Amino acid sequence: MGFIRDFLKQKAPKSGKEMPAYYRKALTASAVVLAFYFFACFLMLGLVTQVWKSEPLLAVAAVLFCLAGIDRIGSHINLTLYTTIMMAWCLWFVHVFGWSTGVQHFLIPLLIISFFNVYEAPWLKLAYCVVLIAFRMLLYAHALKHPPIIEMDQASRIAVQCCNSVFLYVILSAQCILFSTNLQATERQLRIDNQELHKEAGTDPLTQLPNRRAMMDVITNSLKRHGDEPFGVAIADIDFFKSVNDTYGHNCGDYTLRTLSDKFREMASDKYKVCRWGGEEFCFFMPGLNLDDAGAVMHDVCTAVKLMPLSFEGNDFSITITIGVAENDFHSPMERILEEADRKLYMGKNSGRDQVVI
Ligand code: GH3
Ligand code: MG
Ligand code: MG
Repeated sequence: MGFIRDFLKQKAPKSGKEMPAYYRKALTASAVVLAFYFFACFLMLGLVTQVWKSEPLLAVAAVLFCLAGIDRIGSHINLTLYTTIMMAWCLWFVHVFGWSTGVQHFLIPLLIISFFNVYEAPWLKLAYCVVLIAFRMLLYAHALKHPPIIEMDQASRIAVQCCNSVFLYVILSAQCILFSTNLQATERQLRIDNQELHKEAGTDPLTQLPNRRAMMDVITNSLKRHGDEPFGVAIADIDFFKSVNDTYGHNCGDYTLRTLSDKFREMASDKYKVCRWGGEEFCFFMPGLNLDDAGAVMHDVCTAVKLMPLSFEGNDFSITITIGVAENDFHSPMERILEEADRKLYMGKNSGRDQVVI
């Protein structure tokens, strides 16, 4: 009993939160098509049998009631109402006009709605499927036992069959188009969001350079592909950066980091990949370069930084950097090579700064 209560009580998730984007659209499309279908049945059945039945109009009212309540009643109650309307419709139709009108196929769109839209455990959806199968069997048994109340001639039966078939396929197509296009759009959006998140997670927000994590990915991927080729790595650290902050303020320090990063990017071409390693330290990865070549590239960088004019809020100043360079020795792990570059950086710091140590 408990799960029936939960099943009925569960609210439709609010749009944009948990509810699939296509849920509301599919439900609305189904309800609108059904409303037209019931009204078309009212006209057609009246015209072909000359008996004007009120049941199709009742069905129109019921389905419009469902449509109006889409946002107010829960998805499960909505589905229960649809199921009741469609079962009642099929029962009435088969009872009055017989099995051969094909109305029983209108149970199939219910399956699609329930399987794609309603958040529920799969076994409950299967139970729903079993209920629909059982209902269809009972409907068939009923049709075998009771001859139709209104016997239609061949032409009328064809007209009713056509009406049922056309609306059934319209409803199925509307649901399938909504599900497929919305699912694909959602998946595409997820992929784009994922790429953006991945990029953001690997980008330093201040300098827009890759961060340490992204750099390690670049290095690891490069080593996987060209592990037997030489490469150089370098770690650069701004000299006396604390005094830039202390003298001109923290904003000036940030400006300096950004301008320095632009300079690194500008000079990179294909020679190196650079990242913000942390604080005021940067790491360079130079695939294909041995120690001497990497040292030469870093020497150019070191000189360019020294000559780089900096100006913040009327204060002109300049900075220097110290760089430690190491190369692939073809047996040490990456961490050891980076430690070697770091060790050389501190050698440079201890012997006067503003230099490249190879
Ligand atoms: P050294 O030549 O020995 O490297 O001296 P230093 O002053 O550069 O080194 P220290 O490690 O003493 O100071 C580094 C400074 O970098 C301290 C810290 O406030 C500053 N810093 C680190 N990250 C940022 C940042 O994102 N923005 C700013 N403005 N400053 C930063
Ligand atoms: Mg420093
Ligand atoms: Mg430092």
